[in-house]
Amino acid sequence: MADPVVPEPDNKDWTWTLERSCSECGYDANTYGRDEIGSKIRTTAATWRSLLGAGSLASKRPPDGDPSSPIWSAVEYGAHVRDVYKLFGDRFDKMLKKKNPKFRDWDQNKAAVKGKYHSQEPDQVAYELAVAAGGLADRFDKLSDDGWAETGQRSDGVSFTVETLGRYLLHDVFHHINDVEAGYKQLKS
Ligand SMILES: [Zn+2]
Repeated sequence: MADPVVPEPDNKDWTWTLERSCSECGYDANTYGRDEIGSKIRTTAATWRSLLGAGSLASKRPPDGDPSSPIWSAVEYGAHVRDVYKLFGDRFDKMLKKKNPKFRDWDQNKAAVKGKYHSQEPDQVAYELAVAAGGLADRFDKLSDDGWAETGQRSDGVSFTVETLGRYLLHDVFHHINDVEAGYKQLKS
């Protein structure tokens, strides 16, 4: 399979999703207690397993009129979410070990090309996603009261606590579940 078109970097700031529900996917990051973040992360692994179990459909991109900004296939979104779970696990550890650390920049589109997301095997991605999600969920489940308030900074200066990091991350994951469901609808119509 030829390498797909590389989309522009996503420089949009999604931190507003911590303040209000997302107009695109309807997800509201403030409707549950912080103690639920770990179990919600765990639940998403099962959802991704089922989304990625769609056979050959999981590797197909839905038709899209804009080639500079294509919609990813389910396996590409799954690989992205797997890497987000890994990345946020690293950020989480950094926040607990250091005082207000600065996160390294991460370009998700470069990661997708470098990691050849489009040619990855959906079952393998589902497995690796579940492992990464479980590792991160464990970290949240074991947090002390003080741990929730530890802070870190993104390279663009946006500040997170461990709690807002978890809520921000969960929106991203649910947003992409929504993307994949919409993509399947398009592919099946
Ligand atoms: Zn959303």
